[in-house]
Amino acid sequence: MTITPNYAVRRCSLPDCAAWYDVVAVTFAGTARADGWRTWRSLNLRLCSDHAWLWVDGAGDGPHRPGLAQVDDVVWVRCACGWELDTAGLTAGESASQYLAHLAGEVVAGTVNR
Ligand SMILES: [Zn+2]
Ligand SMILES: [Zn+2]
Repeated sequence: MTITPNYAVRRCSLPDCAAWYDVVAVTFAGTARADGWRTWRSLNLRLCSDHAWLWVDGAGDGPHRPGLAQVDDVVWVRCACGWELDTAGLTAGESASQYLAHLAGEVVAGTVNR
């Protein structure tokens, strides 16, 4: 389905995923977020209901749940799988892109399966 980009469109952050939702509709429905979607506010990322299991699987952490850690003056993006990114000199957008490239690579490689 082709969508017309506008303010309300929120897409899944995975580059090859076409899923999206209407944030205005969700907001006025009075729910915190779209059904089954997950958001990681630190890097402004979101995953659709088909991909949210990478972050949260059932009641526990998913295989690629990200987090931030600060070591001395450097902030690291650390993935639950052990992948990590030294963000020194990177913008939030660049850090998000690199984390997403990691995530997309894992999905494409099929190293993570439901
Ligand atoms: Zn998705
Ligand atoms: Zn990972």
